[in-house]
Amino acid sequence: MNAAVLEEFGKPLVMVEREKPVAGPGEVLIRVEACGACHSDVHVADGDWESMKRAAKLPLVLGHEVAGVIESNNARVGVPWLGWSCGACEYCMGGRESLCQKQRITGVMTDGGYAQYMVAPITHVIRIPEGLSAVEAAPLFCAGVTVFKAIKSSGLGRGQKVVVFGAGGLGHLAIQIARELGAVVCAVDVSVEKLTMAMECGAHMVLDSSAEAPEKALRTWGAEVALVTAASAGAYRSAVRGVKRGGTVMVVGMPAEDLQLPVIPIVGGELRIIGSAVGTRQDVRDMLALAARSKIRCHTETQPLEKVNEVFGRLRRGEVLGRIVLTPDR
Ligand SMILES: [Zn+2]
Ligand SMILES: [Zn+2]
Repeated sequence: MNAAVLEEFGKPLVMVEREKPVAGPGEVLIRVEACGACHSDVHVADGDWESMKRAAKLPLVLGHEVAGVIESNNARVGVPWLGWSCGACEYCMGGRESLCQKQRITGVMTDGGYAQYMVAPITHVIRIPEGLSAVEAAPLFCAGVTVFKAIKSSGLGRGQKVVVFGAGGLGHLAIQIARELGAVVCAVDVSVEKLTMAMECGAHMVLDSSAEAPEKALRTWGAEVALVTAASAGAYRSAVRGVKRGGTVMVVGMPAEDLQLPVIPIVGGELRIIGSAVGTRQDVRDMLALAARSKIRCHTETQPLEKVNEVFGRLRRGEVLGRIVLTPDR
């Protein structure tokens, strides 16, 4: 089979011909139909995140937004970032398996979906509902579930106002999900193209933060929740200053540097600052079901797997609208 392989951090992926993987006990062999190119893949490949660098196995097949078909029974399934969790620890038992300390991350600790085939534990593959194609479903396994879970954790209710910082792969899905849940949505970005897409996704208001810091406009507007998907420390400062008193700031986007936040609005405004990472298997199922019964769709562009290094270049330069989904040759 063909696979795009990371052999060394900081180097381009290499297209190789290798043996089809063999499913071990409790595993299934999946014929990959589509795999989203997530910005995290670029960070892992570049060796930007120390902890991931230590956890990653090399050579590695990246890719954790996988959609395909189980080879033995043709069931349509996908594989998320949370490739395996122990099922026995306090987090797994308490319905918070994404915190499991024994978890295995797809496309980091085990080979992922940048290949024609991959294996995954049967307990952690997730069925794709009717009405979603492989290309539509793939980005929901990371980008979709990540913002779905963050919105859920924020407690955002019908009729409440949410500001989404960053209208990229995660942000444009967050806008659609928040709209579907009956919220009023403002989007903030530095790119006019992305703000245009935000409006197409149903944002009620957009603010161009390249022109002016958005906090004053946001305070007037009255955002109850700020969801930061932008990997920008400045976006977090604007979120803390711009959200309403008593509001909630959801930490999702990961800037390379640590966050330096103004303390007065946090304490004086009694803000809640909440981190959120991917989601549980149930969150993935709920995200897929919500998409299948609504118009929520990731804006996708498909590219052949062979183009992965060009795709990574575009991700590094911030030139991707929505998600690029890689499709292996058949
Ligand atoms: Zn991802
Ligand atoms: Zn566990």
